[in-house]
Amino acid sequence: MTTKNSIKPISPFKRIFEYALLEAKRSTDPRKQVGCIITDVNMEILSTGFNGRPVKDHKCHEYLDPNTNKSHPALLHAEERALLRAGTKACNGGYIFVTHCPCLKCASRILEAGISKVFYLEDHDEGVGSKYLTLHDVSVTQVTNIRRSIDKRVQAYDETGLSAYDHEIDFEDDDDDLPLI
Ligand SMILES: [Zn+2]
Repeated sequence: MTTKNSIKPISPFKRIFEYALLEAKRSTDPRKQVGCIITDVNMEILSTGFNGRPVKDHKCHEYLDPNTNKSHPALLHAEERALLRAGTKACNGGYIFVTHCPCLKCASRILEAGISKVFYLEDHDEGVGSKYLTLHDVSVTQVTNIRRSIDKRVQAYDETGLSAYDHEIDFEDDDDDLPLI
């Protein structure tokens, strides 16, 4: 029987990746929704980000540049937005959690900001950002074993609009396999 004395706190990895997935839902980019969380070394959240236009941009609704048919240059990637919001000096030595492997453009910004560890859920862009960061001694880890349980929480949020933590959902106890910080 579960009592208040025996409640196990959610692991920091699940908490932060849940938040990253919810942050991704703020994106209105029809091609891909990316969410990002930057923390300090204690995994306390410094800032959040999602991909899309700047929040003060109420005029640009195009995601593709009509001249090049590529991403509109005014769009921010999730990592860029989170780095801008926190300020790169505050991020020095910290960690970044992102729903997709960073692209090369974001990887160079992550390196410049002094982020020490990168965790991501899904592969993207053939891992060029990951290779770049690894080459420059930034730790990059794909976290694969928590997706199912955090998806359940995010799905519950979608269906009810309530906080994921308002639901009693039986999550598989896979914390033991999480990466060691
Ligand atoms: Zn990027």
